[in-house]
This record gives sequence, structure tokens and C-alpha cells, in this order.
Amino acid sequence: MAGSTHTVTNQPPPLLGYDVYGTDQALVAAVERHLDPELLDEAHGELSALGRAAGSAQLQEWAVQANENPPRLRTHDRYGHRVDEVDFHPAWHRLLGKGVGAGLTAAWTRPGGHVRRAAGFLVWTQVEAGNGCPLSMTHAAVPALRADPELAAEWVPRLTSMIYERELRPAGQKAGALFGMGMTEKQGGSDVRANTTSARPLAEDGTYVLTGHKWFCSAPMSDGFLVLAQAAEGLTCFLVPRVLEDGTRNRFLIQRLKEKLGNRSNASAEVEFDGTWARRVGEEGRGVRTIIDMVAATRLDCVLGSAGLMRAAVAQALHHCAYREAFGGKLLDKPLMRNVLADLALESEAATVLGLRLARPATTAVSRSGRCCGSRCRPPSTG
Ligand SMILES: Cc1cc2nc3c(=O)[nH]c(=O)nc-3n(C[C@H](O)[C@H](O)[C@H](O)COP(=O)(O)OP(=O)(O)OC[C@H]3O[C@@H](n4cnc5c(N)ncnc54)[C@H](O)[C@@H]3O)c2cc1C
Repeated sequence: MAGSTHTVTNQPPPLLGYDVYGTDQALVAAVERHLDPELLDEAHGELSALGRAAGSAQLQEWAVQANENPPRLRTHDRYGHRVDEVDFHPAWHRLLGKGVGAGLTAAWTRPGGHVRRAAGFLVWTQVEAGNGCPLSMTHAAVPALRADPELAAEWVPRLTSMIYERELRPAGQKAGALFGMGMTEKQGGSDVRANTTSARPLAEDGTYVLTGHKWFCSAPMSDGFLVLAQAAEGLTCFLVPRVLEDGTRNRFLIQRLKEKLGNRSNASAEVEFDGTWARRVGEEGRGVRTIIDMVAATRLDCVLGSAGLMRAAVAQALHHCAYREAFGGKLLDKPLMRNVLADLALESEAATVLGLRLARPATTAVSRSGRCCGSRCRPPSTG
């Protein structure tokens, strides 16, 4: 009979329409462990709203669209002018806008911000991990920018504003801005001291021009970048704006986008600096010391992002096994499958607990002696 080969049985429905946060008991418990009690109601409400959005059919569809339609580089306009823009699918902008609006770059300015953001980032990774890159770098740039109070006063309010403005305009005209990071060069990624990009000082104090390349610069559509380059005193950290104050484009020549195995919704680029205007951040020769504050914060997000992916995998596995039947019963009821799922859940929960503990502010950290050093810190045995 026509169509009989296409009968679908014994398959689960899509895992949609649930609260990614509220159904994650380990995450909820970690938030309760590390957050001031007076902030809990508000935080639970906010995170549940984000969790319901993350579990919705609409956002899951945006995630698919953002990955099936990866970014495209447009180096020139039709008249031959260099524009160096990256075009994204509208779904990418919607996801990124929601992430910014949920405070995922604003931890530094909100009460209990780091724990709330960490939980939110873990939830948000479960919708679409690629847009976590610009969210992470924008969040992480703040402590490095604070090496220069004047620059921090100018940029931090934009980076933490919870407003997503995608157009490239002078940052001073924008209510919200994104940041990226350019360290890696062809000859060295881990060993950034091998960087060859050079910085020549200009007449105005603290300003330079850069010449060189970056082999990996993710989120190249951002408004500003912290980069490393060699100045007279050695490797130094610089702020490179995409658009200069007078509205002209800085020399930020995107050579090509990386063809990546993962992280496909997000653009990663090779960039050439050729007379590129830059502002020094921190002292000359102290570039690694300055930018390491940004690097460290992005590495926390590597923990949180990985924990989020683990949780997503566990949720999918549990859902699948709750519906799929084999040998006369649901997979979820088979003792050996329960062992496998319990192992997965254990590792996922451990990663969640670790990620949230790393994210809590230092003032509530446990000292090496094992004693609490903050009045609101609960001892680790409660974890
Ligand atoms: C998706 C993606 C996005 C990225 N985005 C950015 C970005 O936005 N900005 C940016 O600057 N970079 C970015 N990078 C580059 C990334 O930071 C580098 O790839 C990373 O620093 C490693 O450098 P490398 O690839 O040159 O490897 P190498 O430094 O050549 O290292 C190769 C291997 O050797 C190991 N190794 C290195 N040193 C030692 C040592 N002393 N002892 C033992 N093992 C060692 C490394 O762990 C690695 O496994 C991105 C990379 C990816 C994949």
C-alpha cells in the first residue's frame, strides 16, 4: 500500500515547550547555594523566563536557521569600496539580541550578576552555542578594559547595557556594543609572545597604528576588539574600534571567514591590520598581563558552555529513552540503560556545580583553609 513504508512509530516527539532552567535541579540548587537569598525570587523568575524561551519551538527553530545559514563575508560594496561586513541570518540577530537582553554581558553591573549570568549562560548554550561567543567576549572584555579607567568609563556602560545594536556606527552613538579579541597569529596561538603584529606610536598620547595580521578573530562584526601587538617595550594590549569617532571605518580588513567544523553560526575571521588605529590599554610591554583578565573570563565560559552542552545531551537522552521502546518496554526502564543515563547525569551535574562555583564572586569563595571568607557563603559540604 502506498505510504506504508513511511509509517513512523516508536520515535519520541521533539523535546520542546519546557523550562530549560526550572527542570535542571542541579542548576537551580547551585543558584540557591551561591546567590544572596534576597535575590533568589527575582533570579528564579528571570532564569525561568529565559529557560522557557530556550525550550520553546520558536527559539529552537531560530537555532537551526542560524546554523543552516552560516555567516557570509562581504569584503566590498558593489562600487568596489571595502566594507568588510559579515552578513548573518536574521535568526542569529534575534538570538544574540535575546542573549544580550537577558543580561548575559551585564554581570558586572547587576546584583549577584556573576552567578545569575553563569546560570543564564548555561541555559542559553542549550538553545544555540555559537552566539555564546560574542556574548562571552563582550562580557569578558570588561575586567581588561578596567586597566584603563578612562577607556572603561567610555566602553563598559555600552558592553553591559543589555541593548543589542547590530549596525556598525561610531561606538559613541550606540546604546550597546559588542567586543571581540585578537591574539592568535599564524605562527602562534598559545605562545602569543611570538606575535609579529607591530604597533607604532602616534603623536597623541596612548594612540598607535598597527600593522600585521590575526589568524583567528571571532565575532569580527563587533564594535571593538582587544588585540595584542608588539610596541617598543614589548607585547602590548590595544583597543581597536571597528568604526572611528568621525564615522569612517577603521582599517580592519577581513581576509576570509574560517570554514569551521563547529561553531558554524558564529563568524571567525582572518584579519589584516594595515595602518589600523588603536588605543593602548595598560602599560607597554604588559599586554599579556592586561588581556589575560579577558582570556580568563572567556575560559570560565568554556566551562559553562561545556556544562550546558552536557546538560542538553542528558536532557535529550532522557527524553529519547522515556519514549523509545525496545524488547517490550521503554528504554528508560531497562536497568543497564539506567546505569548509562545515571552516569551521564552525574557528570553533567558535577560540571554544573563546578561551573557555578567558579562563577561566584571571590568575596564568597572558600579560602584554602576550608573556612568561609564571606558572610553569606555556605560551606562546601552543602554542595
Ligand atoms: C572556534 C575558534 C575560535 C577562536 N577564536 C579566537 C579569537 O576570537 N581570538 C583569538 O585570538 N584566537 C581565537 N582562536 C584561536 C585559539 O585561541 C588558538 O587556536 C589557541 O590559542 C591555540 O593556538 P594554536 O591553534 O596556534 O595551537 P598551538 O599553540 O600551536 O598548540 C597546538 C597544541 O599544542 C598544545 N600546546 C601548546 N603549548 C604547549 C605546552 N607548553 N605544553 C604542552 N602542550 C602545549 C596546545 O594545547 C595544542 O593542543 C579560536 C580558535 C577556535 C577553534
